Amino acid sequence: MRVAVAKEIQPGERRVALTPDVVGRLVKKGTEVWVEAGAGDSACFSDAAYEAAGAEIIKDSQRLWREGRVILKVNPLGDRPNGTSEYDDLSGDTTLISFLNPLADATGVNHIAETGATAFAMELIPRTSRAQSADALSSQASIAGYKAVLMAASQLPKYFPMLTTAAGTIPPAKVFVIGAGVAGLQAIATARRLGAVVEAFDIRPETKEQVQSLGGKFVEVSLEEETRATGGYAKEVSDDSKRRTQEAIAKHVASADVVITTAQVPGKKAPVLVTKAMVNAMKPGSVIVDLAANQGGNCEGSAPSQAVEQNGVSIIGPDNLPGSVPLHASQLYAKNLATLLGYLTGENGELALNFEDDIIDGACLVHQGEIRNERVKAVLKEELVHN
Ligand code: NAD
Repeated sequence: MRVAVAKEIQPGERRVALTPDVVGRLVKKGTEVWVEAGAGDSACFSDAAYEAAGAEIIKDSQRLWREGRVILKVNPLGDRPNGTSEYDDLSGDTTLISFLNPLADATGVNHIAETGATAFAMELIPRTSRAQSADALSSQASIAGYKAVLMAASQLPKYFPMLTTAAGTIPPAKVFVIGAGVAGLQAIATARRLGAVVEAFDIRPETKEQVQSLGGKFVEVSLEEETRATGGYAKEVSDDSKRRTQEAIAKHVASADVVITTAQVPGKKAPVLVTKAMVNAMKPGSVIVDLAANQGGNCEGSAPSQAVEQNGVSIIGPDNLPGSVPLHASQLYAKNLATLLGYLTGENGELALNFEDDIIDGACLVHQGEIRNERVKAVLKEELVHN
């Protein structure tokens, strides 16, 4: 099996799909690994390091895409700066593994299917214990939660920790985290390590204990509906529940120095939980980091990849935080990919797709040109009806 690591083309992306140590392990197992020249440069992995691990460095991008059998990437496909398209280099012989945004990018999914390729979307890896070490949504979300707190801390005109000095006592910063999933829990842990007092809220009741175990105070909101969907995710709740949530969290937002929002529902627009009025009630200098800004935003007025100011409050909509910690983000992602590849490979070292396996069945977006994931099919059908 020839595995090929393509260089990322999305502007600003610094991650790479495989790191030299993971390449070394694959090569030892008899896998041939190609790495596009310069693919790891911005994550601090040189071509020489990949070569030393047993990879072949390929300068011709299109050759790598056309002759590689398993193409590994981080981001969904797109057009290269020279005008060629990554999609055009797929064929019935290619198996692609990458984040592919399958629940939101219908055009991309159809494009892949038209080429006859097979594709696995990292977003579709089941959230089960067995699949945990292939779970790239978790490995990357955790980095986003960590970095969101660092961004807020460097923007805040205050210290995070409590300090007793000869010049007076500084009280600790108050951080309110909304959405206590993977990113939110890491944000809570990071803010606590920096010495802040942390409150958190999530609509899934089981998060209360997780928040408390990290030293955070859980904000209770009673909702009269089931808030959990299958797979450990939240359900999209009614407008009434969103209104009740907004009312209940308003005073916690008002007293916070920093609000980190991470609330998301897969395949849906993110719920608006922090309103304009709540932002206006915050102290000047306060900071909001909206990790859901790319999905429509948890905070009214936030915008993807932008920092805006409203009534003296900074509202940051960061873009691709995992890409800003490229070395460790790539290291964790590479381990996720290697685990998935292990499930996809037979004893002879070649691809062997056993669709009886829930990880392979769940993560396979397209098989030889046929879209086979039921959740994605439902989203595509809905889009067809709306258009
Ligand atoms: P996510 O990114 O989809 O959502 C982030 C958080 O937002 C979730 O905790 C969700 O409950 C919360 N949320 C959604 N709507 C909200 C609202 N209206 N108000 C407040 N909060 C809201 O989710 P995620 O972080 O990727 O994962 C969520 C959960 O999935 C995990 O905490 C865990 O329980 C489960 N999970 C399980 C495994 C595993 O078993 N291997 C791995 C990863 C995640």
